[in-house]
Amino acid sequence: MSVHAYGAYAGDKPLEPMEITRRAPGPHDVQIDIAYCGICHSDLHQVRAEWAGTHFPCVPGHEIVGQVSAVGAHVKGFRIGDRVGVGCIVDSCQHCEECDAGMENYCDGMVGTYNFPTADAPGWTLGGYSRQIVVHERYVLRVGHPEAQLAAVAPLLCAGITTYSPLKHWGAGPGKKVGIVGIGGLGHMGIKLAHAMGAHVVAFTTSESKREAALALGADEVVVSRDTEDMAAHTQSLDLIVNTVAAPHDLDAFLVLLKRDGAMVLVGAPATPHPSPGVFSLITRRRTLAGSMIGGIPETQEMLDFCAEHGIVADIELIRADEINAAYERMLKGEVKYRFVIDNATLAS
Ligand code: NAP
Ligand code: ZN
Repeated sequence: MSVHAYGAYAGDKPLEPMEITRRAPGPHDVQIDIAYCGICHSDLHQVRAEWAGTHFPCVPGHEIVGQVSAVGAHVKGFRIGDRVGVGCIVDSCQHCEECDAGMENYCDGMVGTYNFPTADAPGWTLGGYSRQIVVHERYVLRVGHPEAQLAAVAPLLCAGITTYSPLKHWGAGPGKKVGIVGIGGLGHMGIKLAHAMGAHVVAFTTSESKREAALALGADEVVVSRDTEDMAAHTQSLDLIVNTVAAPHDLDAFLVLLKRDGAMVLVGAPATPHPSPGVFSLITRRRTLAGSMIGGIPETQEMLDFCAEHGIVADIELIRADEINAAYERMLKGEVKYRFVIDNATLAS
């Protein structure tokens, strides 16, 4: 079936309207009419070929919400009309240790929602900047939020789970002091989620202008990371830092803020490496530098349910498809408050 989409034909070309094809739903497939799709910084890294191996045409988008419009004969969990989401994963091997543990995000055979090999045309996956997608039911999530919040739920499918997973794994909660570095799409969700988990939240930003907003998002304290005195005041005080910054930067400046046995988890994925951390900022307090990638399907459902229960959604700016290129430029300047979401009804060419 031919579907309206928005994507790029080369890394140095703007995104533009295009037609793509979707497979007819197989026995275990769910066909989704996409209502909204968030714009993740990963979309920009991939479509501009900042990360290696982009296939063109490239249709990004892995923060997908919409309604089920058809189901395969063997689909048990979904019905036409259900409100659903799809995040960064549309397939995996389904039989390895990681898949068995519900951590499909760490399966070697994980198929990402865009730019991963697939039997479907054109040979790699095409993402959510499109009117429709067809996905195996295992990778489809239920959305419990009210219909009116649907657009603001979209970013939970990547920005939400990518911050929820390390916060949970490293024990954010009451009595813990948690730093969130970078207040963009991921970071603003990190603040909301860590706050809802009961942690004391310290937001680190390069933008003085985000101070008030960070407090409103749920931060207990805000530090402008260019202010060395303010940074020094937090030395050895944090249990956990989730670092979402999309560009290489000095990690030592944040590592020294951790207590003994504290951990900094990198989730930002810059195109070029960070300068290596100095070993002394690690060994002097037995600190950990770690990484985390999105989350598995069961944990993504858990996060969506947690957010529905706590009334958590993203702060979004809803845009038309023809505003995507301008939105990318504003995201690069750190101007988005805090996630652009595309109204996919505007994708008709
Ligand atoms: P974003 O909305 O652009 O936010 C990134 C934030 O980092 C900015 O708002 C800015 O916050 C801060 N920043 C500081 N210096 C920067 C610089 N020189 N360039 C860019 N940002 C800078 O991006 P996002 O969508 O949250 O994604 C953040 C990163 O996470 C990206 O690299 C993305 O690819 C990656 N990611 C990883 C995963 C994963 O599974 N690990 C999942 C999704 C995304 P302040 O203004 O507050 O300083
Ligand atoms: Zn993403």
